Amino acid sequence: MSGFRTRAIHVGNEVDPATGAVVRPVHFASTFQQPGAGEWGSFDYSRSGNPTRSALQETLTSLEDGCGSLAFSSGMAAIHAVTMLLRSGDHVLAGSDMYGGAYRLLHKICKATGITVSMVDMTDLAAVGAGIREDTRLIWVESIGNPRMSIVDLPEIAKLAKQRGVLTGVDNTFGTPVLMRPLQWGIDIVMHSATKYLGGHSDCLGGTLSVADPDLWDRLYFVQNATGAVLDPMTSFLVSRGLKTLDIRVREQSRSAMHLAEWLESLPLVRSVLYPGLKSHPQYALASHLFDQDRPTADKRFGAMITFELNASLEDVKRVCESTKLFHLAVSLGAVESLIEQPATMSHASYAPEDRAKHGITDSLIRLSVGLEDVEDLKADLMSAFESIQRT
Ligand SMILES: *Cc1c(COP(=O)(O)O)cnc(C)c1O
Repeated sequence: MSGFRTRAIHVGNEVDPATGAVVRPVHFASTFQQPGAGEWGSFDYSRSGNPTRSALQETLTSLEDGCGSLAFSSGMAAIHAVTMLLRSGDHVLAGSDMYGGAYRLLHKICKATGITVSMVDMTDLAAVGAGIREDTRLIWVESIGNPRMSIVDLPEIAKLAKQRGVLTGVDNTFGTPVLMRPLQWGIDIVMHSATKYLGGHSDCLGGTLSVADPDLWDRLYFVQNATGAVLDPMTSFLVSRGLKTLDIRVREQSRSAMHLAEWLESLPLVRSVLYPGLKSHPQYALASHLFDQDRPTADKRFGAMITFELNASLEDVKRVCESTKLFHLAVSLGAVESLIEQPATMSHASYAPEDRAKHGITDSLIRLSVGLEDVEDLKADLMSAFESIQRT
C-alpha cells in the first residue's frame, strides 16, 4: 500500500475517463437514469449515494484503514447516526472529557428516547471496567479529550468492550487519521467532524464515520439513508480537497503547537499547560505509544490543540481571549487560521455547571487551535495579550 500522502491525493481521485480531468467533476445530480424498470445502476438517488460523496468516502476509508465510510451533513449528524443504532433501555458509557455538542446530544436528545448515559474518566481503566453494565451497548470516547486533552488507552478500552460485547466509537476529530487510527486498535467506529482538520479551512460543515466491519457499515448506511443527513456534493468536494493537504497541515500545525506549548509552560503567568506532547502531560507515555506510530520520537506529532490555565482572575482570562489579533476569538478548530476560546463560556457552555466543575473545566481554562501562520507571529500575538493584563 502506498504512503498516507499519496493515498490522500490519489485514492478516490482517479483521472476522469470522460475528459481526462485530473480532478473529478462535482456531481450535483439528485437522480440518475436507470438501465431498466426495476434494474438499478451504481447510483439512483443522491440521498442513497452520490459519486462525489462516494469519492470522499473512498479516500477517507483508505486513510483510516477501514472497510467503508459515510459522510454526513455535520459531525453531530454522524454521532447521532451512531446513537440511532441504540434502543430504549440501552446504556451509553461516555468519556467525561467530551465535546459539548456530544454531551448535549446524549443528555438532551438520547435520554428523552429512553437511552441512559453515564460519564466516566476514560483514563481510569478500572473505572471504565466498573462502568460497563449489563445494558451497556456503546462506549463513546475522544482520541484527544476536549478540552482537557486527556489521552485514553484505546487498545485496552477496545479489549474491555469486546469482552462484554459493547460497541466502541472514537471521536477522532482532534487526533486526525494522520496521527491516530483507532480502527487499528480494535475500535469499531471512528468519527470526525470534517468541519475541522479534514476540511481544514473554516469554510464547510461536515461529519464522517469509518468502520472496519462491512455489517456495521450496512447498519449505519441504513440509518443514514433512512434519516437523510448526507453530505452535499459541493461540501464533499471541499472536504476531498482538504484531505489532499491534511498530512502536511496537521504535521506543521502540530509542530507549531509543540513549540508554543513548551514556551507557554516556561511563563510564570501560566499555571499549567495541557498538551499530549509535553512530558508533564499525565498520559505522555501513552500518547507517545499511540500517536504517530511510524515516526521516531523526535519526529512524532501530538496534534495542534493546546489547553492552558492562567494564574489570573476570570476577568483577565476573558481579556486575554479578547486581546489577541491573529488568534480569532471563536469556537471550532483545525483550520489554517489560529483560534482562541474559553471552554467554560463557549465550547462547553452546554455542560451542566456541576458537570463542568466535576470534570475540571474551570473558568480559567483557555483553548488554542494552532493554525498555519508563522509560529513566531503567533507567539508575539499571545505575548502582547498577556502583557495587556500584566500592565493593569
Ligand atoms: C466540532 C466537533 C464536533 C461536532 O461537529 P460539527 O461538524 O460541528 O457538527 C464533534 N466532536 C468534536 C471533537 C468537535 O470538535
